[in-house]
Amino acid sequence: MRGRRRRKRAGRIFLTGLLFLLVSGISVGTAAIIWIGINTKDRSGTITGPVIFAQSEQIWDACVEAALDQERKLAAAEKEQSGQQKAEEDPGDTREPEASTESSELSDTENPADLRNAPKLRIVLDPGHGGPGLTDEQELGAIYRDTYEKYLTLEIARAMGEELSEYGNVEVFLTRNSDQALTLKERAAYAESVGADLLVSLHLNASLEHNFYGSEVFVSAFERFHALGAGVGNSILEELTDYGFVSKGVKTRLGSKGADYYGIIRECKALGIPALIVEHGYMDEDSDWSRMSSPEARQALGRRDAAGLAAYFGLEKGVIQAGLPVRNEQIPTAVVRPDTTPPEEVWYQKELQRDGRYLITLHGVDRESRVMYYDYSLDGGQTYSPLKLWAGEDVTQFPLSLTGTEQLVFRVYNNYELRTAVEEG
Ligand SMILES: [Zn+2]
Repeated sequence: MRGRRRRKRAGRIFLTGLLFLLVSGISVGTAAIIWIGINTKDRSGTITGPVIFAQSEQIWDACVEAALDQERKLAAAEKEQSGQQKAEEDPGDTREPEASTESSELSDTENPADLRNAPKLRIVLDPGHGGPGLTDEQELGAIYRDTYEKYLTLEIARAMGEELSEYGNVEVFLTRNSDQALTLKERAAYAESVGADLLVSLHLNASLEHNFYGSEVFVSAFERFHALGAGVGNSILEELTDYGFVSKGVKTRLGSKGADYYGIIRECKALGIPALIVEHGYMDEDSDWSRMSSPEARQALGRRDAAGLAAYFGLEKGVIQAGLPVRNEQIPTAVVRPDTTPPEEVWYQKELQRDGRYLITLHGVDRESRVMYYDYSLDGGQTYSPLKLWAGEDVTQFPLSLTGTEQLVFRVYNNYELRTAVEEG
């Protein structure tokens, strides 16, 4: 629950469109706290191009100018007032002037003068897939539930962009805002053209056997691209877990030549832009689908993505901060390799219980990643139970009703979907 965490800070500068508004000026002791409102939301109501939610430089400058102006006026008024107060004060009064932590924070870190140089992140959202798919099925993405992934990713991206634009210190761009075909190279080039600090590619998953579920994030396996991608990815996964998904974690994948496997990550990295792929959940799995089946659910997903990203960068809603928290991510010196081997130590034991059922103790260890799911068969591997979530560390336990005629098979999976099977006998 990091997304809605709010730090109590003074000197919040809010702006309300072009019409800035002085909400209140509170004089505490000798200091004043200035609250000015700005709404960072695009109010045009219509989205006209690929660049949306982006606050224009002019609006930004005007708001900063207005904030500075107000600050000057307030400082002048305040000076005058404190002068008067001093004259009225009893010379014998030895009280310390009431120091306000809030006001000192304002002068140290949030002086509106600093806002001229306030950091502004450029985040590019990339709704996965898009286009008619007549010659390239990739354009459609996953196809389930009588819909296409390409439509749903666009809904999520729009919601994420809208939500993110309510935060300060960020500009949001979309690679596409219609059912448009774009190559991965074009998406990366667009990100470069707007000076992106980060690209977030939004997707929905599906699996061959239609049994997997959960959210996962793919990032580059290299250096700072990995560090930033993993930081943001973990923060988004926290939000998605809070929303109800199971987290499969942040992962890497390498192609045969040792570069990042996924094109969008590879193309962005070639242009110096960290990128991550958010796979929200599986369209072909019922429990995951229930968290994305309605337009409202998709909007909630987008808002969760935004909250995760904002939490990572320390952004605040409606607040332009003079500086953002410094993240000290460990930059990996070696390639962060994916796990390419299934869980290593897999065995089970069964124990007859007093209620006549058997207690199954299933053991699984994966040293390179982690154990994620298991399933079992009673008919020698012809059919399997639904994929169940691994509950403990090295061991998961569950009861089974057995007659003794079954042919048991247990399968243990890591979070890279690799499995090891163990059979009875
Ligand atoms: Zn996809």
